Amino acid sequence: MAGRTGRTTGTVTNWAGNIAYAAGEVHRPGSLGVLRALVAENTKVRALGSGHSFNEIADPGTGGALLSLEGLPAEVDVDTAARTVRVGGGVRYAELARRVHAHGLALPNMASLPHISVAGSVATGTHGSGVSNGPLAAAVREVEIVTADGSTAVIGRGDARFGGAVTSLGALGVVTALTLDLEPAYGVEQHLFTELPLDGLDFETVAAAAYSVSLFTDWRDPGFRQVWLKRRTDQPLPAFPWAVPAKVALHPVPGMPAENCTRQFGVPGPWHERLPHFRAEFTPSSGAELQSEYLLPRAYALDVLHALDGIRRTVAPVLQTCEVRTVAADEQWLSPSYGRDTVAVHFTWVEDTAAVLPVVRRLEEALEPFAPRPHWGKVFTAPTATLRGRYPKLDDFRTLARDLDPTGKFTNAFLAGLLG
Ligand SMILES: Cc1cc2nc3c(=O)[nH]c(=O)nc-3n(C[C@H](O)[C@H](O)[C@H](O)COP(=O)(O)OP(=O)(O)OC[C@H]3O[C@@H](n4cnc5c(N)ncnc54)[C@H](O)[C@@H]3O)c2cc1C
Repeated sequence: MAGRTGRTTGTVTNWAGNIAYAAGEVHRPGSLGVLRALVAENTKVRALGSGHSFNEIADPGTGGALLSLEGLPAEVDVDTAARTVRVGGGVRYAELARRVHAHGLALPNMASLPHISVAGSVATGTHGSGVSNGPLAAAVREVEIVTADGSTAVIGRGDARFGGAVTSLGALGVVTALTLDLEPAYGVEQHLFTELPLDGLDFETVAAAAYSVSLFTDWRDPGFRQVWLKRRTDQPLPAFPWAVPAKVALHPVPGMPAENCTRQFGVPGPWHERLPHFRAEFTPSSGAELQSEYLLPRAYALDVLHALDGIRRTVAPVLQTCEVRTVAADEQWLSPSYGRDTVAVHFTWVEDTAAVLPVVRRLEEALEPFAPRPHWGKVFTAPTATLRGRYPKLDDFRTLARDLDPTGKFTNAFLAGLLG
């Protein structure tokens, strides 16, 4: 049922369907004025992006207001001279990338799925891969946030608050626009390989073999079933003697049809049609999966992979696929890649929370010696006390949150332990 604010009532779930938001309804304001009023008049508020997170991070709780920005005009305003784009808070990467590319410009990187919202992605530290590529938030130069009283705060690079403003977990307010850096458009080819052994792996060399590199395994056997090299066509393609070139098109989940995946076999294409693994034209409305991911210091990458190998018989029965990527250190205080060059180990699980959670706990025990930071948008069990110790600038973030949101309007149950 839709009303003045485009309100939808009934059960509202995330994309995967494993979380039913206690808020029970979503407001879809059609104008900034209505959005501001909703923020000002409600005591508990959370923004909802495209709902691709796998935990309660977006849930304002019972009686709270969940605000989607999908009803606002989908602003994508490219400044070709400055090489920047101003993008509205509800816009998804697929739409942003298409419009930026039409101006001969590009984003530095993308995540595996282009259907996720820009504001929601940078809020959780979402990333692609590449030893020189920071998370997606690294491209953001300015954010506009509707704060607790309904007014707008504009925070740009150079502002002392900027380190907390982009990867903010939605705790500072509702982001209504972001300005991102762009670069000239470039081409990318995907070269896929199979069967990369773990024994003798030179992780640094493999991870740096192309602009973006992903290793996939189901952990049923040691080593990696697939290697995806995404080479920029303006950079050389080094020899890759450690694995076998793929003979057929591949999907990251073994046995799944590859037609929804972006073009492979070294066929060059525009950056936004190769950096994501999945095609923008393929729009999954929901997913029969859960996901977890841990970001760890890249210097420990080989130790981490051997630790995972040591528990692979526990992990494999509930795993669809595991992806290993790299992320360059960034400066957002709550970014899981804050201050450290990172190896990110991702797990797509089967859609069975009861079976997956004990394995997640076991996995976290195995990774504990390497100080993992869980992806904010995925399933994890690490206690708040542990997370607090992983973020050296957490106190600065809490001060910023208290300044912009003195009553804790944007703090939900998921964040209370961290920010309280
Ligand atoms: C199939 C799939 C593939 C994925 N691939 C990757 C990947 O390659 N790399 C990776 O790192 N992650 C990946 N993810 C995780 C995903 O990127 C994150 O969960 C991301 O937060 C999703 O964005 P969203 O808009 O759906 O956020 P939501 O789940 O809607 O919200 C996440 C958080 O952002 C906040 N938020 C959203 N919009 C705003 C706003 N306008 N203002 C303030 N706060 C806001 C919410 O309040 C919430 O706290 C993937 C997820 C799926 C389902």
